[in-house]
Amino acid sequence: MGALLEIKDLKKYFKTPRGLLHAVDGINFTLDRGKTLGVVGESGCGKSTLGRLIVHLIEPTGGRIFFEGRDCTDLSRQALLESRRKMQMIFQDPFSSLNPRMTVKETILEPMIIHGMFGGNQSEQALRVREIMDAVGLAENLADSYPHELDGGRRQRIGIARALALEPKFIVCDEPVSALDVSIQAQILNLMQDIQNERGLTYIFITHDLSVVKHISDDICVMYLGNMVEKCPAGEIFKTHCHPYTRALLSAIPIAKAGARRERILLKGEISSPIEPKPGCRFAPRCLEARQDCSETQPDLMEISPGHMVACHLYSKCKSNKT
Ligand code: SF4
Repeated sequence: MGALLEIKDLKKYFKTPRGLLHAVDGINFTLDRGKTLGVVGESGCGKSTLGRLIVHLIEPTGGRIFFEGRDCTDLSRQALLESRRKMQMIFQDPFSSLNPRMTVKETILEPMIIHGMFGGNQSEQALRVREIMDAVGLAENLADSYPHELDGGRRQRIGIARALALEPKFIVCDEPVSALDVSIQAQILNLMQDIQNERGLTYIFITHDLSVVKHISDDICVMYLGNMVEKCPAGEIFKTHCHPYTRALLSAIPIAKAGARRERILLKGEISSPIEPKPGCRFAPRCLEARQDCSETQPDLMEISPGHMVACHLYSKCKSNKT
């Protein structure tokens, strides 16, 4: 299939009165066409900033972004408009990301008008709106409804429909189900998988909840304070997770089996500051396995088995934890 997206040493630093905040600090990965990369980490780890960098909503401080083999890091205005057709984003809170003054139909139509799809032919655009509404499970009689008249699940379906309007190849899904009831989450996840299978889409799926990306991802990447600390095939992370932070994340997932319990790893200690971070592993103040060299040198991302990368000085002690 080949790589659709290649990220090389991507960085985003924000200026603050106390110094530079390292939101994304040297991320590298490759994502093949038709695949899904789940990006997991707690609030403030830089996962949403990473998504916004990739779709060019914000400018990187350093590094390169290659899309379909082409360096698209520094795009001209025209090239940026073209790339927006291929790369779209679905946001966490459908209510705040939708224009309350636009109906469902107008919301889906707007990007087509901006990009002059179908040569501006209005009847073809209207036909396309109906097709997309059908594809995301929005009934035709909702076309003239406003976001506030719909429930959260339907509002997120509008967000997905709008992202699909320009027939993109790649979508960054930023916590697309976190604001929804659990019963609706499964419906939206299934819908997104069906759409991916039908259209051969490539996803980056950002979430704080590992259990959400368990089924939808091919690979999972775990981020901590701007760094990637572990990346491996999705099935593997639930069996052979090596990084102490990944183990803590996994321990928080409830087991859906009567009477079954998993020992919860409670992280203690202060979270390091992402502003002008100190040398060493950024997880060290909270790590139960930290040793002296952890606060002196930052661990590199090492491949410990095919496709499984870990950034931890203990990487050679990889444990097999059947869950
Ligand atoms: Fe813990 Fe050290 Fe590994 Fe960091 S490098 S996760 S502090 S053991």
